[in-house]
Amino acid sequence: YDDRDGKIWMDGKLVEWRDAKVHVLTHALHYASSVFEGERCYNGKIFKGVEHSQRLRKSAELLDMEVPYTVEQIEEAKYAMLRANGWTDAYVRAVAWRASGEDMGVSAKRNPVRMAIAGWEWGAYYGDAKTKGAKIDIAKWKRPSPETIPVAAKAAGLYMICTMSKHAAEAKGCSDALFMDWRGYVAECTGANIFFAKDGEVHTPLADCFLDGITRRTVIAMLREKGVTVHERRILPEELEGFQQCWLTGTAAEVTPVGQIADYNFEVGALALDTAASYEKLVRA
Ligand code: PMP
Repeated sequence: YDDRDGKIWMDGKLVEWRDAKVHVLTHALHYASSVFEGERCYNGKIFKGVEHSQRLRKSAELLDMEVPYTVEQIEEAKYAMLRANGWTDAYVRAVAWRASGEDMGVSAKRNPVRMAIAGWEWGAYYGDAKTKGAKIDIAKWKRPSPETIPVAAKAAGLYMICTMSKHAAEAKGCSDALFMDWRGYVAECTGANIFFAKDGEVHTPLADCFLDGITRRTVIAMLREKGVTVHERRILPEELEGFQQCWLTGTAAEVTPVGQIADYNFEVGALALDTAASYEKLVRA
């Protein structure tokens, strides 16, 4: 995958895909001093691009790093990368990390922060689950307390247990894993937020210890605009049995209905499908 044609924006300029490399003594590789974004470009326009660039800079700040580019410069860079590859519809991955430098240990203030933006063509994140409903496992790991790690950052360190949990889920034939949080409340999946519906009303976990996704906020606003009641609240795993519909939201996942979480079944119903359709319309508007 490294050795292919294409362009990647790196530290202020477009480089060949196969030349976009870092050194093995990169601080981020050893200590997870890395933040990133996942975005989607539809018909030549990145959906909520500015919000993503702002979040990247915010995530870095939470890790005591400063992205050496402004939001405007990041926006320009993303479109330059897309144009250089000839894409109007693509997934966009921006990443900023502490590089190798004078400091080889945990403390690394003198090492520069570097940044890259790559992209690729990426279809439905959960494959045919968009129509059939995804099958979700329950992760054995928990989302940590905000006193343990900066949970609002989209930071590499928060994804270690995501990869482990997603591998475990896939080994059981599931598409993803649902985390409980450190208190035992329902939290999120490894790369998407979760929503439930019951008797026409929508319930979603309060984003107080996991990523408050841009798609999550978009979907909440969309539903409220339609007059649907949305409860952001603490949800216990025992409640899963009583919900009728469920769906996931995320930039990559978009809105994907869920058919099953562990032994609980959900109908791929009108509210889930309508929300998915409205989101699809909105991102291309
Ligand atoms: N939670 C996690 C852990 C994620 O990786 C993502 C994807 N960025 C989300 C939620 C959804 O966030 P967004 O809607 O901003 O893509």
